[in-house]
Amino acid sequence: MSRVSPVSAPKIFRSEEELAQMPASERIRWRLVQADRRYHANDNISAFMREGELEELKAEVQAKLQEVLQALVIDTVSDHNTKETAKRVAKMYLEEVFRGRYVPMPAVTEFPNAERLNELMIVGPITVRSACSHHMCPIFGRVWIGILPNEHSNLIGLSKYARIADWIMSRPQIQEEAVTMLANELQARVRPDGLGIVMEADHFCMHWRGVKDTESAMVNSVMRGAFLKDANLRREFLSLLPRRKG
Ligand SMILES: [Zn+2]
Repeated sequence: MSRVSPVSAPKIFRSEEELAQMPASERIRWRLVQADRRYHANDNISAFMREGELEELKAEVQAKLQEVLQALVIDTVSDHNTKETAKRVAKMYLEEVFRGRYVPMPAVTEFPNAERLNELMIVGPITVRSACSHHMCPIFGRVWIGILPNEHSNLIGLSKYARIADWIMSRPQIQEEAVTMLANELQARVRPDGLGIVMEADHFCMHWRGVKDTESAMVNSVMRGAFLKDANLRREFLSLLPRRKG
């Protein structure tokens, strides 16, 4: 079996036959490298995956997690609690908590701003869950989105904001990058005059390890367009958010 180094996969030709024999992760990585595409923890790679490969990845991850348990010297044969752990965690990663890397963006219908709405609109709090890319520890948070539409803006249904946020957050993330990614996606889709996003989150790598600080929440914001230029608008948006804790 041919092996491609995960660190610097070279650009080389591979026949369909060769590709079929590779583990799915190497096959997908090969396509990404050929296309010069980044595949960081918070990148979506769904365009480089084919039908059935998510299942293949799940089996691969399960086998590797089994090795991790072995390396931790955990007896997964007699310990009934850990017998299925590798399988459960692989499923949780691929189908739930990191799903936003492997599936395309949820379908969002945009409709023209027929009513020519031009008032500040606030969506939130949207509950989001993520994991930090540094420790893969959970992040639980709330997001508020402020939109100032103009007559050329496309509007999207309220529930779609939550769907897009979930798709972006369900990846190993860094909070600052996550809010920027969400802002870019909404900016491209809605094309408002102003866009503001505030995210407040609890990072479990602060609670579970390290300093074990149980009080700290991290707050991030991104302001674009009118929210950046107009201090009154920004103040109005921030004042309309329910009192955040901390
Ligand atoms: Zn962390």
